[in-house]
This record gives sequence, structure tokens and C-alpha cells, in this order.
Amino acid sequence: MKDVANRFAAKVFNLTTMRQRLPKDTYKEMLRCIADGKRLDIAVANIVANAMKDWAIEQGATHFTHWFQPMTGITAEKHDSFISPDGNGGVIMEFSGKELVRGESDASSFPSGGLRSTFEARGYTAWDPTSFAFIKDTVLYIPTAFCSFGGEALDMKTPLLRSMEAINRQISRVLKLFGHENVTPITTVGAEQEYFLVDQGMVDAREDLMLTGRTLLGAKPPKGQELDDHYFGVIKPRVQAFMQELNDELWQLGILAKTEHNEVAPAQHELAPIFTTTNISVDHNQLTMELMRKVAHRHGMVCLLHEKPFNCVNGSGKHNNWSISTSEGVNLLDPGATPFENAQFLLFLCAVIQAVDDYQDLLRISVATAGNDHRLGANEAPPAVISMFLGDELTEVLEAIEHDAPYGGHDKEQLKIGVDVLPRIPRDSTDRNRTSPFAFTGNKFEFRSPGSSQSIAKPNIVINTAVAESLRQFADALEGAEDFTQALHDLIRDTVKAHKRILFNGNGYDNHWPEEAQRRGLMNLRTTPEALAHLLDKKNVALFERHGVFSAAELRSRYEILLQNYVKVIHIEAETMMDMVSRNILPAVSAFSAKLCDNAKVKAEVAGVACGYEKARCREISRHTDTIYAIYSTLGEAMHHADSAEDTLERAMRYKDDVIGAMNALREACDACEAMIPNEQWPYPSYTDILFSVK
Ligand code: ADP
Ligand code: MG
Repeated sequence: MKDVANRFAAKVFNLTTMRQRLPKDTYKEMLRCIADGKRLDIAVANIVANAMKDWAIEQGATHFTHWFQPMTGITAEKHDSFISPDGNGGVIMEFSGKELVRGESDASSFPSGGLRSTFEARGYTAWDPTSFAFIKDTVLYIPTAFCSFGGEALDMKTPLLRSMEAINRQISRVLKLFGHENVTPITTVGAEQEYFLVDQGMVDAREDLMLTGRTLLGAKPPKGQELDDHYFGVIKPRVQAFMQELNDELWQLGILAKTEHNEVAPAQHELAPIFTTTNISVDHNQLTMELMRKVAHRHGMVCLLHEKPFNCVNGSGKHNNWSISTSEGVNLLDPGATPFENAQFLLFLCAVIQAVDDYQDLLRISVATAGNDHRLGANEAPPAVISMFLGDELTEVLEAIEHDAPYGGHDKEQLKIGVDVLPRIPRDSTDRNRTSPFAFTGNKFEFRSPGSSQSIAKPNIVINTAVAESLRQFADALEGAEDFTQALHDLIRDTVKAHKRILFNGNGYDNHWPEEAQRRGLMNLRTTPEALAHLLDKKNVALFERHGVFSAAELRSRYEILLQNYVKVIHIEAETMMDMVSRNILPAVSAFSAKLCDNAKVKAEVAGVACGYEKARCREISRHTDTIYAIYSTLGEAMHHADSAEDTLERAMRYKDDVIGAMNALREACDACEAMIPNEQWPYPSYTDILFSVK
């Protein structure tokens, strides 16, 4: 590919384009509006809208859309053309400032969790000028936040932007204490995205993949990921062609696609971008997922973003790398070279430690989906217990501070915060542990629990708000201190003392860890309903309300939506499974056992042989067939019983226990049959067919 530098962001109305296309004053006004989150004056908005429209039309656009992220976790759009009658039977192309900054939308079919009554079905979208407009196909996309008419958030972006404001406010307070006035803090995120690529034909032949994104059945193939021969292996030509086209599309949209490689499971891959400001990173990750699907389709493949498409190999996650920095590019989670920088680093570090400990439940909730439940704690992804990895060096430093003891046994002096230089913390030794949900990796934290298909807005809303709360408490304590250095020292020591239970450098996949975690009083919220049961806990509502991120009503609506969504996903999976079993699997196993009987009969008559194989297999298959039929017959009843629960949480709990329980048993019997039936008589492509389908 030639000319990458020029193609990069060619389809984005970014600062460079704005500087070229806007009058100087308007451009300055835009900069101010982006920096301060200020609303644009309508006269200025009109000029920007017109310039944007001219630019978009030159690029072939005919429509515009307010692009938003409702609580479905994906994006939504409705296209309007630029045309307007010219009064002479023709049209002119128009786009006003009003249309740019605010849109009205019929919100009645988006989930609101009871926030919006039917007579207030309208919602509105408001431009987020910090995330640039872009062109996809022939449409100008304007990133927006989506609210009810009463101003309640109906989307992911609104609370995300609020959480960014909340943490920025508190970071500024703390930075001021260290003498940094007037610096603009930013939180940065880089999301590593895992995915599977399989042949389109395989998906077309399996209604489970088509309807639910994962295989609901499938016997273990002889070869999975045992040989570790796929991880970082040579990329197959068809996949390479896909990656190349995907990169080009992403780059044109200004998305910093950087690293690509094969992942652990066969047919699994990863893409990592260079990090950027949180809300832009969230938008970019949504676009990345969408384009992965589209580009795969053009190459005759399907991109599976489900957390667990296949039972016997690793599922897919999304590592959310998070840090805080200043607009000057100083990373506040980078240990510094002077005592003062070190003290500041330790304070921010402690803020994160306290946040993760105090809001373990919210972090777990932020990644809780039916799909991700298959992955967390399955020895391929972090456990459901949230803990934090800091690495040995940093842990030793904190222990020394906690006990007012000399650090590392060397020399005499104990570490005096704000006076002494921290020992050098070698960066690479901090990134060895891949089993921790929340790992410090040298100058950022890597939250490894998010599922591959989810929006990263949720985890970042929680991280931002929880850390904002620690920083608020720290700033309150330090702002009035007489002896700042002493107060800082005490605060760091006390925080380590109070929250060290969350620090765990060991193997998170170890079976003993959940027991140890329980002894430490850490939470182990194994499934989505168990996690969501804590969303409305008093301390959580108080946190979000205090920082203006969610009102109690908004949080309650999310609670309802998340539970309902969990129930719906499992309901669809169970229905799909029943359909597959009823129409294809039972007839296939029945036909095969009948065939075995016919064969046995003929063999016995003609040759007088015992027919041990035919008889034994037939009995075995019949046993499984009876099990399949029995479970199949009760699964509908289990769903009916679950659906009859008035309370949404109770309904979700019944789905988790009864419906999933029955589905697991049903699957086991089906998979046992698959292993006994010839390929061509089994109604679905096998795991081997699917996982090794792309050459
Ligand atoms: P690995 O995790 O494989 O060691 P890297 O450390 O290079 O890889 O980075 C992984 C991801 O972390 C990348 O997406 C990168 O952009 C992101 N990242 C790096 N620094 C930061 C930061 N300061 N803030 C947010 N994300 C970051
Ligand atoms: Mg990583």
C-alpha cells in the first residue's frame, strides 16, 4: 500500500482539515469548544456545518447521520440526505448548524429501562465535538451523545463523557497540590481486540453461529490449541489480505491500527491500536469491530467477536489499557526521576489501588455479559475475582512504605516520600503476569476482563469514576494539610495498609486463588446476575451520583436493561438450540441408529455374524437420544418458569441456573452423539471444519 501517511485520516474532519477549511476565528472557536467542552454558538455552528458539508460532498457523501451508542452496546445511525428543494423543481445541498449540533430521534425502540414513558418517546442526539466527524461509504458521520427529552442518558457516551469530566476535575485538584496549575488532564485508552475469522460457508451452515455468534454444540476436535502453533504464527494469505484491507479502512478513518498477530486459538487473531483519548478510543473500537465484520465479509469470511465461539479453545477478550496523562503528554502513571515526581506517581498509583478495591463489584459488573461468563475464570482469562498485579518491585516499595521499613533490605535509609528518589522500577518485569484482571504494566493499567464484543465505554466509566472518588478523598485530605510531605507520606502508607488485600502477584488461574481471595474478603461474582445484584448497592449509587455520572434513576434503568439483555441472550440461545436439536439432530441420530440396525440385520442374515459394533453403538446412541429428547422436552418449560418471575433479577437467576443447566446437559449428549456419527450424516460442520476452514 502506498502513501499511507496521506491516506491516514483522509476521511476525517479533524483539526488539520478544520484549519484548512474554516475561517480563522471559527477555527479558534472550535478549538476552544473542544478544549473546554463548550457548546458552539449557533452562528459559528452554521459556518462549521457548511464547511463540513462542502468537504463531505467533495468526498462523495450525500447523507449525514448523528451516530450514537445506545444501550444495546452497538452503534445506531439514521441517514438524512443533504438535499433541499430549490423552489424550481431542483435541489440544493444544505446542512445547518442546528442539524450539526442537535438531532431529534424517535427513541421508542431503544432500550430505556423504564426511563422513558411512551408519551415521551422522543430522544435527542448532541454532537460530541471532541470526537471528529468522519465519512463512511457516502455518509457523513457525526459522533453524538443520546439523551431522553428530560436529559437522562440513554447511551454509553453521555456517562462516559461525564466520567471523564469527573476524573479530570479531581486530577486537576491533585496536580495543583504538586504545583501544576492550569494543566489539562486526559485519560488515555488503548484497546487490544481479539477476534476469530472463519469461512462464510461454515457460518451459513450453522444456525447457532448465525443467530448467536457462538457454537451451542460441537464435539471437541482432535486438535485444538495444544501445540501453541498458532500464537504469533505465520499469518495465512487470506487473513493477511483481510488485515491489509482492514488497516487501510481504519487508517483512512484516523484509527491508529498498529499491531496485528495470530492469537492462541486456531483461527484467532488480535489487533491493537495506539492509545488515544478515552472517548475517541471508545468510538474507534466500535468502528474497528464494525469494519472487521464488513471487511471479513468481502473476503468470504465471518469475523466472530463473541467471547466464546468455541468450547474447547480460548475465547476472545479485549484488554483495556488505561492511563492518565496531561495534555502536554506527561504520563502520570510513569514513575519519575525526582522525589517529587515519584511522590506524585505513588499518589496516583494509590488512587487506583483504592478504587479497584472499593469498587471491585463495579469493575466486575462493567464486563458482565452472558457471553463473557463463559470466559472469566475458565483458565484462559482472568478469574471473576478482581485483583491487581503490581509486580514484585513496586509491591516491595509499597510494603516498605507501609511498614516504615527500609526498602529492599539495602542500605540503611527508609524511603521518605517526597524526599527520596524511588528505586528504579524496571519496566519489563512488570508485565510478566498475564493472569491478573488488572495489571500495572509499567506506565498504564491493563484491565484484561472485558469481553471481545462489548463496548469499552462501560469499564472506562467505572475506572474513571472510581479513581475520581479516590482522588477526591486524597485532595480533601491534602488540601488542608499543614505539612504536605508528611501528610502525603501518611496518606500513601494508610492507603496501602487499608487496601493491600486487592494486590495479588500470583497466578490468577490457580485453583487456590479463589479460596485465598475469599479469606481476604474479596468478592467472587461468578456470573452476570450475581454481579448485577450489586449494581444498585448504596455505595455504588452514591459514587455515581456524587460525581454526576449517573443519577439513581439512570442507574436503575441500566440495571434493568443489563438483566433483561442477559435473559434475552440466553433465551435466544436456548430457542436456537431447541430448533437445531428438534429439526436436525434428533432426526440425524435416529436415522443413523436405524441404519446401524438395518446393517446389523442384513449382516446377521447373510453372514450370521454377531454385529457387536452396530448393536453397541445403536444402544449407546439411543441412550443419548433419549437424554436429548428428555431435556429438549423440558427446556421450554424451564424457560417458561424463568419468564414467569416478576422480578428481573430472579428471572435472570433462573435462566442462569435452570436454563443454562439444561443447555449444558443437552449439549453434552449431542456432542457425544456427534463423536459417533459420520461427518456427512451430522447436520452441521464440525469444529475441525470450522476452525481450520480459512487457508
Ligand atoms: P503489550 O501489552 O503487548 O505489552 P504494549 O505495552 O505495547 O503491548 O501496549 C498494549 C496496548 O496498550 C496498546 O494498545 C497501546 O496503545 C496501549 N497503551 C500504551 N501506553 C498507553 C497509555 N499510556 N495509555 C493507554 N494505553 C496505552
Ligand atoms: Mg497487552
